[in-house]
Amino acid sequence: MAHPLEDTLLARQITPTAMRLLVLDVLQQHPAAHSLADVEQLLGHVDRITVHRTLKTFTDKGLVHRVEDGSGAAKYALCAPACLPGHHQDLHVHFFCTHCRETSCLPTVAVPVIALPAAYQVHETSLVMKGRCARCAG
Ligand SMILES: [Zn+2]
Ligand SMILES: [Zn+2]
Repeated sequence: MAHPLEDTLLARQITPTAMRLLVLDVLQQHPAAHSLADVEQLLGHVDRITVHRTLKTFTDKGLVHRVEDGSGAAKYALCAPACLPGHHQDLHVHFFCTHCRETSCLPTVAVPVIALPAAYQVHETSLVMKGRCARCAG
């Protein structure tokens, strides 16, 4: 029987386990960026270490990306299907809503290339904008 969650994991060379399926399910049902604590809370009684390992595996395999939104805790959001392990294609702007405190991916808004003084080597760029999200601004 076809199982869409399992197929999503297998497409990224991730062996489906009960926990991995649960975490993927929760991320798909709540399309925003979530911290480890958020995921833990959404899942109910689960082992934090296992959830942490699961998110790390997902990140390594290009299924989710990390978002640093300035809240102090790294957050994780599902990647676009075009992402490859270790080579994320979705370098997009993230938006932190100061009203509902949710961090969202803005997949249609690319992070601009910013010119730096000579001798600086950029390893990654992240851009988080803050304000009211579409839901809260309306
Ligand atoms: Zn909001
Ligand atoms: Zn994102």
